[in-house]
Amino acid sequence: MEAPLQQLHNPLWENQGIALWVKREDLLHPAISGNKWRKLKYNLEEARRQQKSTLLTFGGAYSNHIAAVAAAGQEFGFRTTGIIRGEKHLPLNPTLSFAASVGMALHYISREAYRQKSDLLYLTQLAEQFGNPYLIPEGGTNSLAVKGCTEIVADIPIDYDYICCACGTGGTIAGIIAGLEGNKQVLGFPALKGGEFLKEEITQLIDRYNGQHYDNWQLITDYHFGGYAKVKPELLEFMREFQQQHNMPLEPIYTGKMFYGLIDMIQKGYFPQGSRLVAIHTGGLQGNAGFRERLGVEV
Ligand SMILES: *Cc1c(COP(=O)(O)O)cnc(C)c1O
Repeated sequence: MEAPLQQLHNPLWENQGIALWVKREDLLHPAISGNKWRKLKYNLEEARRQQKSTLLTFGGAYSNHIAAVAAAGQEFGFRTTGIIRGEKHLPLNPTLSFAASVGMALHYISREAYRQKSDLLYLTQLAEQFGNPYLIPEGGTNSLAVKGCTEIVADIPIDYDYICCACGTGGTIAGIIAGLEGNKQVLGFPALKGGEFLKEEITQLIDRYNGQHYDNWQLITDYHFGGYAKVKPELLEFMREFQQQHNMPLEPIYTGKMFYGLIDMIQKGYFPQGSRLVAIHTGGLQGNAGFRERLGVEV
């Protein structure tokens, strides 16, 4: 499995002497997408070490993580249970229909109950109810996920100044920061509002992983486009142009916003002349089928 580096060419940055590469984590695995594969890798090893036969995790109805865990269970020989936020809707959307097709048992809970997803008591009850499974938190983020994501940077064979990554729970960027051990500049682009909270989360994830504190990173909070699942026409338009120019698909929740933000920052002169940038394509393209269905738009 390989995630090649692809250089993007455009006078917009090349006229400033800026070079831009994309690390194509989306190509790591056909179904266990991008960062979700990195986050699962050591969790799967740990589940096996604990001789667990079932993986149980949490997510929304369009979650990339749910799709990835379902696929990983099939490929690596675990049963999987997905605790899905909200009510069941038939027919299943493309994400859940994929998850079910590779064997995931779907269990729906109310939005109120879902808020307890990190409570110890609730997790103990779930473990009893579902046969003592290996529990993976929402989005797959824990210390083993951070460890897996440190390997994203170990796997970049060129020299560069900045690395850019979309953020949800912050697990991926925590691994990137820890893997760089204080080197380079790391820019995170949150998909949600509320960057201050996320900053604290990331700091804690790194601390729990290796006890270190780093200052070479920041969150760019201007490009969430109204929040997680809000899709603005200008973002879709940008994604279409990007696909045409670079022949690289994006999705509107994470990578679309990050590239929009990154290119906007280049345009506004944020990066010094001669900067070398690496952007992480974290994958998530499975979600596009759901967008097409829900919004009736081409993404
Ligand atoms: C889950 C996901 C992210 C966010 O990763 P976190 O580790 O939760 O910050 C970014 N991009 C894509 C495509 C994702 O699916």
